[in-house]
Amino acid sequence: MTEFGKAPTGFLSAASLFGLFNRLFLNAALFTRFHFSAIKHCLIPECAQWVCTMNKRPLYFDYAATTPVDDRVIQVMVECLGFEGNFGNPASGSHAFGQSARQTVELAREQVAQLVNAKPEHIIWTSGATESNNLALKGVAQASRESRGHIITSQIEHKAVLDTAHFLEASGFDVTYLAPDSDGLVSAEKVRAALRSDTLLVSLMLVNNELGTVNDIPAIGRLVREHGALFHVDAAQGAGKVAIDLQEWVVDLMSFSGHKLYGPKGIGALYVGPRAQDRLQAQIHGGGHESGLRSGTLATHQIAGMGAAFAIARESFTQELSHIQGLRERLLEQLADVPGVLCNGCPIQRIPHTLSLTFGEGHFNSSALSAVLAYSATSACNSASKAPSHVLLAVGHDADKAARTIRLSLGRFTREQDIDVAVNAIKAAIAAPAPFWAVAQS
Ligand code: PLP
Repeated sequence: MTEFGKAPTGFLSAASLFGLFNRLFLNAALFTRFHFSAIKHCLIPECAQWVCTMNKRPLYFDYAATTPVDDRVIQVMVECLGFEGNFGNPASGSHAFGQSARQTVELAREQVAQLVNAKPEHIIWTSGATESNNLALKGVAQASRESRGHIITSQIEHKAVLDTAHFLEASGFDVTYLAPDSDGLVSAEKVRAALRSDTLLVSLMLVNNELGTVNDIPAIGRLVREHGALFHVDAAQGAGKVAIDLQEWVVDLMSFSGHKLYGPKGIGALYVGPRAQDRLQAQIHGGGHESGLRSGTLATHQIAGMGAAFAIARESFTQELSHIQGLRERLLEQLADVPGVLCNGCPIQRIPHTLSLTFGEGHFNSSALSAVLAYSATSACNSASKAPSHVLLAVGHDADKAARTIRLSLGRFTREQDIDVAVNAIKAAIAAPAPFWAVAQS
């Protein structure tokens, strides 16, 4: 009797041949994977595209969702970890370990502040832009002596603002959700018309995460200040891509995220300007860290990483912007001969990094495209729900048009040959027939 799962000795069965073939195939695949980054640099776009598909790791075009941590940042973070490193608690001011960690935290605070021309003492560490947005909106609402009040935001904010606004609405605050124009911008005029005598706070994003459009924050800030309300800006997608000047701009609160700018996930910051300091209620209590606005032991390695990432962004700002501008132009030029492609959002008031493309009616084979490119069908926050993007609906797309829209976002490690591969893959996805399961589903 043959033992189950073992081929009889001295006899090359079909099963053992199959196993041998499988192992050879697996080894080849592993080899290709490990050597992929070396190989793909030397290939013409068509071949690189084929290797991408074989390798199963698509080219990364989703920098707006998150960025890889820059190697220089990793180095700084690692130095804060082991026993030989800078591992102390920044709150342990009585000994050298704590003092050294505190110095690292304060250097990082300065680095974050420098990128946006703010004073370091106005930067509060949080766990990310979601927490910064929560602290800004709930903090201002709850610190207000009135139990009710009016808040203005827009329909195309990130869910970290929208869901927080819905929460405040349920607790008795009035919220106005401004509609953007068809270019994805919220104008100062719309804000002016919505301001009321009981408006406590206006919260608008600097850069939209799906469209890449840039609101005129300086102009909106001036009129909010005239009115007397506080002005919060979600700059998670804008830091390092737009020249932010908090000495010039009239902004009271601004949210930042580490992982959108080649820093680690799980760290962010909130700029709290002088007018906001006494009008903000902490949301996390215990220990009184960060001037009592956000308690909790400071994560030195995360903070040092975010500081280093922001310092690199400041140093490479101009050069990186022109690199990405060039990539965007290359992409759009090559897509110009594809009929029916529409680039969403204002073509002028925008960052070049984020492109929202709607394809013409007819079939678009998204599974063929995702084998080659890691892109977003909508923003990362919406993709879990599979609902049409609230941003695209707000700028006038219907659900069908929204479903034919993709977001490509470019970043520090995107190269010209990646753009060429992307264009070929998009053209192939438009021409390719639908896979049978997609036909069955529709
Ligand atoms: N705000 C905007 C505009 C974003 O794009 C994101 C992330 O996608 C966030 C806030 C949330 O940032 P974090 O992931 O740091 O919480």
